Amino acid sequence: MSHDLLTVVIAARDEAQALPLLHVRLARVLDALADDHVEGRILYVDDGSRDGTWDVMRGLANGDRRVALLRLSRNFGKEAALTAGLDRVEEGAAIILDADGQDPPELLPRFVALWRQGYDDVYGMREQRDGEGWLKRASAHVFYRVIQRLSRTPIPTDTGDFRLLSPRALAALRQLRERHRFMKGLFGWIGYNRVALPYRREARVAGHSKFNLWKLWNFALEGITSFSTAPLRLATYLGLFVALLAFAYALMIVTKALFYGDPVAGWPTMMSVILFLGGVQLVALGLIGEYLGRLYEESKQRPLYLVEDWRPTPAGVCSAASQPSGGKRHAYGASTTGSQDA
Ligand code: UDP
Ligand code: MG
Repeated sequence: MSHDLLTVVIAARDEAQALPLLHVRLARVLDALADDHVEGRILYVDDGSRDGTWDVMRGLANGDRRVALLRLSRNFGKEAALTAGLDRVEEGAAIILDADGQDPPELLPRFVALWRQGYDDVYGMREQRDGEGWLKRASAHVFYRVIQRLSRTPIPTDTGDFRLLSPRALAALRQLRERHRFMKGLFGWIGYNRVALPYRREARVAGHSKFNLWKLWNFALEGITSFSTAPLRLATYLGLFVALLAFAYALMIVTKALFYGDPVAGWPTMMSVILFLGGVQLVALGLIGEYLGRLYEESKQRPLYLVEDWRPTPAGVCSAASQPSGGKRHAYGASTTGSQDA
């Protein structure tokens, strides 16, 4: 039986405490998988940590020949860090895992089994969320329902980044170079054979979540504006609706004036109409602004991340072609797209 190659990609920011704990679990799982003819590798991506995470990673790499390390030049955010990691996986499948132990590595064999059955995108679906407040759970619930209604891209409920991507799904993902990376949407956009793997999301093993409510709200906005233009249409309909109301109202006052004369009164109605219309216009402008701002950011075509340090495994986590050879290669992110598009 041939060996299947599997790279576990882990983006970490300030996870010095959690990483060693996760690594022990992960190493055990990969040992077991090796007996099942799976060659497992680990790629840790340091997303601009300030707490010694990089040193911890180097320690782990020294003790385990399967570990490759990537360090970004600063904090680019989880999405960019994951993209950086996935860009380096040029052979076999990849599994994305959180560094904090919330995605149990013990499930890896089940992901692999589904991959071997021919699935391209095996995504973990959260059945239960330990250690998360009701507000976060409720807002996540609402968000998934809203985005599913608004967008034509299938975005399954209660999924995160915890998933296995087959080589062809990875290749597809690498072609999507937009700056505003709403990963769940990008995975959904790819299509191919997808299957959900229900699991229980555990509480963090150490440290604290980097996503507060404000960040989650922005994340939701990101998702909706990246994968749906429905809000723009909403502005149109709202405008139409208000215009219709205004027309009916105008008809009413003109008729009234014709029959009963034209008393000067009307200040309150005028004020309310002006204020209402002003509000609607501002909302519509804001919506357009959201999209325009994103258009502006995309148009700059900056790379998605910059690499500070890259240490492949002794075995080589990817083919030699993708290893940086000098400064130019460091702007790996967007430059690859250029050549793919050309
Ligand atoms: N993370 C990252 N860069 C960031 C923020 C987070 O790489 O700027 C990583 C973090 O180290 C963890 C994963 O993304 O491995 C999920 O982050 P977190 O646990 O804070 O999010 P939550 O599980 O609360 O959604
Ligand atoms: Mg977490």
